[in-house]
Amino acid sequence: MTEQFELTAGGAVLMNGNRLRDEIVAELNAEITAAGGPAVCLATVLVGDDKPSRIYVRNKQRKAAEAAMESRHVELGADASQSEVEEAVGGLAADPGVHGILVQLPLPEGLDPDTVLELIPPEKDVDGLTPRSMGRLVRGQRGHVPCTPLGVMRLLDRYGVATSGSRAVVIGRSTLVGLPQVLLLGRKGVDATPTLAHSRTPELQEVCRQADIIVAAAGMARLVTADFVRPGAAVIDVGISRTTDGIVGDVDFEAVQEVAGAVTPMPGGTGPMTIACLLQNTLAAARMLGAFPD
Ligand code: NAP
Repeated sequence: MTEQFELTAGGAVLMNGNRLRDEIVAELNAEITAAGGPAVCLATVLVGDDKPSRIYVRNKQRKAAEAAMESRHVELGADASQSEVEEAVGGLAADPGVHGILVQLPLPEGLDPDTVLELIPPEKDVDGLTPRSMGRLVRGQRGHVPCTPLGVMRLLDRYGVATSGSRAVVIGRSTLVGLPQVLLLGRKGVDATPTLAHSRTPELQEVCRQADIIVAAAGMARLVTADFVRPGAAVIDVGISRTTDGIVGDVDFEAVQEVAGAVTPMPGGTGPMTIACLLQNTLAAARMLGAFPD
Protein backbone atom coordinates (compact mmCIF):
# COMPACT_ATOMS: atom_id res chain seq x y z
CA MET A 1 0.00 0.00 0.00
CA THR A 2 1.36 3.45 -0.78
CA GLU A 3 1.81 5.74 2.20
CA GLN A 4 -0.72 8.55 2.64
CA PHE A 5 1.27 11.73 3.16
CA GLU A 6 0.10 14.62 5.30
CA LEU A 7 -1.28 17.43 3.09
CA THR A 8 -1.35 21.20 3.52
CA ALA A 9 -4.68 23.05 3.51
CA GLY A 10 -4.09 23.75 -0.20
CA GLY A 11 -3.54 20.05 -0.96
CA ALA A 12 0.26 19.89 -1.35
CA VAL A 13 2.25 17.12 0.31
CA LEU A 14 3.83 18.55 3.46
CA MET A 15 7.49 17.53 3.49
CA ASN A 16 7.74 17.35 7.25
CA GLY A 17 11.36 17.64 8.34
CA ASN A 18 10.62 17.19 12.04
CA ARG A 19 8.94 13.91 11.35
CA LEU A 20 11.68 12.60 9.07
CA ARG A 21 14.37 13.74 11.52
CA ASP A 22 12.63 11.79 14.29
CA GLU A 23 12.51 8.70 12.07
CA ILE A 24 16.23 9.02 11.30
CA VAL A 25 17.20 9.60 14.94
CA ALA A 26 15.19 6.52 15.96
CA GLU A 27 16.90 4.46 13.22
CA LEU A 28 20.35 5.61 14.38
CA ASN A 29 19.49 4.77 17.98
CA ALA A 30 18.31 1.29 16.93
CA GLU A 31 21.46 0.72 14.86
CA ILE A 32 23.84 1.77 17.62
CA THR A 33 21.93 -0.18 20.28
CA ALA A 34 21.84 -3.30 18.07
CA ALA A 35 25.64 -3.09 17.71
CA GLY A 36 26.00 -3.24 21.51
CA GLY A 37 26.25 0.51 22.04
CA PRO A 38 29.80 1.30 20.95
CA ALA A 39 30.76 4.92 21.61
CA VAL A 40 29.96 7.18 18.66
CA CYS A 41 31.06 10.69 19.54
CA LEU A 42 30.20 14.06 18.01
CA ALA A 43 32.29 17.00 19.17
CA THR A 44 30.89 20.50 18.85
CA VAL A 45 32.96 23.67 19.00
CA LEU A 46 31.28 26.98 19.79
CA VAL A 47 33.21 30.23 19.76
CA GLY A 48 31.61 33.42 21.07
CA ASP A 49 28.11 34.16 22.21
CA ASP A 50 26.00 34.25 19.05
CA LYS A 51 22.54 33.27 20.32
CA PRO A 52 21.24 31.29 17.30
CA SER A 53 24.58 29.39 17.15
CA ARG A 54 24.18 28.42 20.79
CA ILE A 55 20.65 27.13 20.12
CA TYR A 56 21.81 25.17 17.06
CA VAL A 57 24.61 23.53 19.03
CA ARG A 58 22.32 22.65 21.93
CA ASN A 59 19.79 21.07 19.53
CA LYS A 60 22.53 19.04 17.88
CA GLN A 61 23.72 17.71 21.24
CA ARG A 62 20.18 16.91 22.36
CA LYS A 63 19.43 14.95 19.19
CA ALA A 64 22.80 13.19 19.39
CA ALA A 65 21.82 11.91 22.84
CA GLU A 66 18.47 10.69 21.48
CA ALA A 67 20.37 8.82 18.78
CA ALA A 68 22.46 7.07 21.51
CA MET A 69 25.54 9.07 20.59
CA GLU A 70 27.96 10.78 22.92
CA SER A 71 28.76 14.43 22.57
CA ARG A 72 31.75 16.42 23.56
CA HIS A 73 31.55 20.20 23.72
CA VAL A 74 34.29 22.80 23.56
CA GLU A 75 33.36 26.39 24.18
CA LEU A 76 35.59 29.42 23.74
CA GLY A 77 34.86 33.07 24.48
CA ALA A 78 34.28 35.72 21.80
CA ASP A 79 37.79 37.01 22.51
CA ALA A 80 39.47 33.67 21.72
CA SER A 81 42.51 33.99 19.47
CA GLN A 82 42.97 32.17 16.17
CA SER A 83 45.59 29.90 17.75
CA GLU A 84 43.33 29.03 20.70
CA VAL A 85 40.56 27.95 18.34
CA GLU A 86 43.02 26.01 16.18
CA GLU A 87 44.48 24.30 19.24
CA ALA A 88 41.00 23.21 20.39
CA VAL A 89 40.06 21.82 16.97
CA GLY A 90 43.49 20.23 16.51
CA GLY A 91 43.04 18.44 19.85
CA LEU A 92 39.72 16.97 18.75
CA ALA A 93 41.21 16.00 15.37
CA ALA A 94 43.91 13.99 17.16
CA ASP A 95 41.57 12.43 19.76
CA PRO A 96 40.68 8.83 18.82
CA GLY A 97 37.58 9.04 21.05
CA VAL A 98 36.05 11.72 18.80
CA HIS A 99 34.51 10.64 15.48
CA GLY A 100 32.82 13.77 14.18
CA ILE A 101 33.78 17.42 14.62
CA LEU A 102 31.41 20.29 14.06
CA VAL A 103 32.71 23.85 14.30
CA GLN A 104 29.64 26.06 14.55
CA LEU A 105 29.87 28.87 11.99
CA PRO A 106 30.07 31.80 11.72
CA LEU A 107 33.12 32.36 13.92
CA PRO A 108 33.38 35.78 15.57
CA GLU A 109 34.76 38.53 13.36
CA GLY A 110 38.53 38.51 13.05
CA LEU A 111 38.85 34.72 13.08
CA ASP A 112 39.60 32.87 9.86
CA PRO A 113 37.28 29.84 9.56
CA ASP A 114 39.23 28.34 6.64
CA THR A 115 42.42 27.56 8.55
CA VAL A 116 40.32 26.17 11.41
CA LEU A 117 38.28 23.89 9.14
CA GLU A 118 41.40 22.65 7.37
CA LEU A 119 42.51 21.04 10.64
CA ILE A 120 39.58 18.62 10.54
CA PRO A 121 40.51 15.31 8.88
CA PRO A 122 38.02 14.36 6.11
CA GLU A 123 36.84 11.31 8.08
CA LYS A 124 35.78 13.54 10.99
CA ASP A 125 34.44 16.38 8.85
CA VAL A 126 30.77 15.56 9.47
CA ASP A 127 29.68 18.99 8.25
CA GLY A 128 31.32 18.21 4.90
CA LEU A 129 32.55 21.77 4.47
CA THR A 130 36.33 21.45 4.32
CA PRO A 131 38.08 21.76 0.96
CA ARG A 132 39.00 18.06 1.04
CA SER A 133 35.39 16.99 1.62
CA MET A 134 34.15 19.34 -1.09
CA GLY A 135 36.79 17.95 -3.44
CA ARG A 136 35.63 14.42 -2.72
CA LEU A 137 32.03 15.44 -3.43
CA VAL A 138 33.00 17.01 -6.75
CA ARG A 139 35.03 13.92 -7.70
CA GLY A 140 32.33 11.46 -6.55
CA GLN A 141 34.63 9.93 -3.93
CA ARG A 142 33.63 8.57 -0.52
CA GLY A 143 33.33 11.34 2.06
CA HIS A 144 30.89 13.44 4.04
CA VAL A 145 28.34 15.54 2.18
CA PRO A 146 27.26 18.94 3.61
CA CYS A 147 24.27 18.37 5.87
CA THR A 148 21.75 20.92 4.61
CA PRO A 149 21.78 19.92 0.92
CA LEU A 150 21.92 16.26 1.96
CA GLY A 151 18.83 16.86 4.11
CA VAL A 152 17.04 18.26 1.07
CA MET A 153 17.85 15.07 -0.86
CA ARG A 154 16.49 12.94 2.02
CA LEU A 155 13.23 14.94 2.01
CA LEU A 156 12.79 14.50 -1.74
CA ASP A 157 13.40 10.78 -1.40
CA ARG A 158 11.16 10.28 1.65
CA TYR A 159 8.25 12.16 0.12
CA GLY A 160 8.44 10.40 -3.22
CA VAL A 161 9.54 13.36 -5.36
CA ALA A 162 10.97 11.90 -8.57
CA THR A 163 14.33 13.41 -9.43
CA SER A 164 15.32 11.39 -12.48
CA GLY A 165 14.49 13.34 -15.61
CA SER A 166 13.30 16.33 -13.60
CA ARG A 167 14.30 19.96 -14.03
CA ALA A 168 15.54 21.55 -10.82
CA VAL A 169 16.41 25.13 -9.90
CA VAL A 170 18.59 25.90 -6.90
CA ILE A 171 18.48 29.55 -5.81
CA GLY A 172 21.80 30.43 -4.16
CA ARG A 173 25.36 29.43 -5.00
CA SER A 174 27.12 29.26 -1.63
CA THR A 175 29.57 26.48 -0.81
CA LEU A 176 27.41 25.76 2.24
CA VAL A 177 24.17 25.02 0.39
CA GLY A 178 23.61 25.96 -3.25
CA LEU A 179 26.73 24.61 -4.89
CA PRO A 180 26.72 21.17 -3.21
CA GLN A 181 22.95 21.02 -3.77
CA VAL A 182 23.46 21.31 -7.52
CA LEU A 183 26.12 18.59 -7.43
CA LEU A 184 23.82 16.25 -5.50
CA LEU A 185 20.84 16.84 -7.79
CA GLY A 186 22.96 16.25 -10.87
CA ARG A 187 24.64 13.07 -9.59
CA LYS A 188 24.37 9.85 -11.54
CA GLY A 189 21.47 7.91 -10.07
CA VAL A 190 19.68 11.10 -8.98
CA ASP A 191 19.68 12.40 -12.54
CA ALA A 192 17.93 15.74 -12.21
CA THR A 193 19.00 18.55 -14.54
CA PRO A 194 19.82 21.40 -12.16
CA THR A 195 20.12 25.11 -12.87
CA LEU A 196 22.11 27.23 -10.42
CA ALA A 197 20.40 30.61 -9.93
CA HIS A 198 21.77 33.56 -7.97
CA SER A 199 21.29 37.28 -7.47
CA ARG A 200 22.40 38.05 -11.05
CA THR A 201 20.08 35.54 -12.69
CA PRO A 202 17.75 37.39 -15.08
CA GLU A 203 14.06 36.54 -14.97
CA LEU A 204 14.34 34.30 -11.94
CA GLN A 205 10.59 33.84 -11.83
CA GLU A 206 10.53 32.47 -15.38
CA VAL A 207 13.52 30.22 -14.68
CA CYS A 208 11.76 28.81 -11.61
CA ARG A 209 8.49 28.28 -13.44
CA GLN A 210 10.24 25.75 -15.69
CA ALA A 211 11.26 23.64 -12.71
CA ASP A 212 9.84 20.44 -11.26
CA ILE A 213 11.91 21.03 -8.12
CA ILE A 214 12.84 24.40 -6.57
CA VAL A 215 15.35 24.62 -3.74
CA ALA A 216 15.39 28.16 -2.33
CA ALA A 217 18.57 29.01 -0.43
CA ALA A 218 18.94 32.76 -0.88
CA GLY A 219 18.10 34.10 2.57
CA MET A 220 15.51 36.52 1.10
CA ALA A 221 12.23 36.42 2.99
CA ARG A 222 9.32 35.15 0.84
CA LEU A 223 11.28 35.50 -2.41
CA VAL A 224 9.49 32.53 -3.97
CA THR A 225 5.85 33.45 -4.49
CA ALA A 226 3.14 31.34 -6.13
CA ASP A 227 4.04 32.93 -9.49
CA PHE A 228 7.42 31.20 -9.37
CA VAL A 229 5.91 27.77 -9.08
CA ARG A 230 4.73 25.49 -11.83
CA PRO A 231 1.61 23.59 -10.67
CA GLY A 232 2.65 20.34 -9.02
CA ALA A 233 6.30 21.28 -8.47
CA ALA A 234 8.16 20.41 -5.26
CA VAL A 235 9.36 23.49 -3.37
CA ILE A 236 12.00 23.23 -0.67
CA ASP A 237 12.73 26.16 1.59
CA VAL A 238 16.23 26.46 3.02
CA GLY A 239 16.38 30.21 3.63
CA ILE A 240 16.08 31.64 7.10
CA SER A 241 15.37 35.33 7.70
CA ARG A 242 14.81 36.64 11.19
CA THR A 243 12.08 39.28 10.96
CA THR A 244 9.72 40.97 13.39
CA ASP A 245 7.23 38.20 12.39
CA GLY A 246 9.73 35.60 13.62
CA ILE A 247 11.59 33.16 11.37
CA VAL A 248 10.56 33.52 7.73
CA GLY A 249 11.70 31.33 4.88
CA ASP A 250 12.51 32.12 1.24
CA VAL A 251 9.14 30.66 0.27
CA ASP A 252 5.77 32.33 0.67
CA PHE A 253 4.35 29.13 2.15
CA GLU A 254 0.68 30.17 2.33
CA ALA A 255 0.49 31.06 -1.37
CA VAL A 256 2.86 28.39 -2.68
CA GLN A 257 1.11 25.46 -0.96
CA GLU A 258 -1.96 26.21 -3.14
CA VAL A 259 0.06 25.54 -6.30
CA ALA A 260 2.89 23.19 -5.39
CA GLY A 261 2.68 19.40 -5.38
CA ALA A 262 4.89 19.24 -2.29
CA VAL A 263 6.33 21.89 0.00
CA THR A 264 8.42 22.16 3.16
CA PRO A 265 7.27 24.20 6.13
CA MET A 266 9.59 26.80 7.65
CA PRO A 267 10.43 26.17 10.41
CA GLY A 268 10.10 22.39 10.56
CA GLY A 269 11.45 21.48 7.12
CA THR A 270 15.11 21.69 6.19
CA GLY A 271 16.42 22.80 9.63
CA PRO A 272 15.68 19.55 11.46
CA MET A 273 16.98 17.60 8.45
CA THR A 274 20.33 19.37 8.73
CA ILE A 275 20.68 17.92 12.24
CA ALA A 276 19.50 14.46 11.16
CA CYS A 277 22.12 14.36 8.40
CA LEU A 278 24.83 15.57 10.78
CA LEU A 279 24.08 12.57 12.98
CA GLN A 280 24.01 10.18 10.01
CA ASN A 281 27.38 11.57 8.95
CA THR A 282 28.69 11.05 12.50
CA LEU A 283 27.79 7.36 12.43
CA ALA A 284 29.37 7.10 8.97
CA ALA A 285 32.48 8.81 10.42
CA ALA A 286 32.72 6.23 13.21
CA ARG A 287 32.51 3.51 10.52
CA MET A 288 35.21 5.15 8.39
CA LEU A 289 37.46 5.33 11.46
CA GLY A 290 36.88 1.63 12.26
CA ALA A 291 35.06 2.45 15.53
CA PHE A 292 31.74 1.00 14.39
CA PRO A 293 31.10 -2.33 12.63
CA ASP A 294 30.35 -2.16 8.87
P1 NAP B 1 24.79 33.06 1.34
O1 NAP B 1 26.19 32.57 1.40
O2 NAP B 1 24.46 34.44 1.76
O3 NAP B 1 24.29 32.83 -0.15
C1 NAP B 1 23.07 33.32 -0.59
C2 NAP B 1 22.95 33.04 -2.06
O4 NAP B 1 21.67 33.46 -2.47
C3 NAP B 1 23.97 33.77 -2.92
O5 NAP B 1 24.47 32.92 -3.90
C4 NAP B 1 23.17 34.92 -3.53
O6 NAP B 1 23.59 35.28 -4.83
C5 NAP B 1 21.79 34.31 -3.60
N1 NAP B 1 20.75 35.35 -3.55
C6 NAP B 1 20.61 36.31 -2.62
N2 NAP B 1 19.54 37.07 -2.92
C7 NAP B 1 19.01 36.58 -4.07
C8 NAP B 1 17.92 36.95 -4.88
N3 NAP B 1 17.13 37.98 -4.57
N4 NAP B 1 17.68 36.22 -5.97
C9 NAP B 1 18.46 35.16 -6.29
N5 NAP B 1 19.52 34.77 -5.57
C10 NAP B 1 19.79 35.48 -4.46
O7 NAP B 1 23.83 32.15 2.21
P2 NAP B 1 23.90 30.56 2.56
O8 NAP B 1 24.90 30.34 3.60
O9 NAP B 1 23.92 29.76 1.30
O10 NAP B 1 22.46 30.41 3.22
C11 NAP B 1 21.30 30.69 2.46
C12 NAP B 1 20.12 30.75 3.39
O11 NAP B 1 19.92 29.46 3.96
C13 NAP B 1 20.31 31.69 4.59
O12 NAP B 1 19.09 32.29 4.88
C14 NAP B 1 20.72 30.76 5.72
O13 NAP B 1 20.35 31.26 6.99
C15 NAP B 1 19.92 29.54 5.37
N6 NAP B 1 20.44 28.26 5.87
C16 NAP B 1 19.52 27.38 6.34
C17 NAP B 1 19.93 26.14 6.77
C18 NAP B 1 18.90 25.15 7.22
O14 NAP B 1 19.25 24.20 7.88
N7 NAP B 1 17.65 25.34 6.84
C19 NAP B 1 21.28 25.79 6.76
C20 NAP B 1 22.19 26.69 6.24
C21 NAP B 1 21.76 27.94 5.79
P3 NAP B 1 25.05 35.91 -5.15
O15 NAP B 1 26.01 34.76 -5.08
O16 NAP B 1 24.90 36.46 -6.50
O17 NAP B 1 25.31 36.94 -4.08
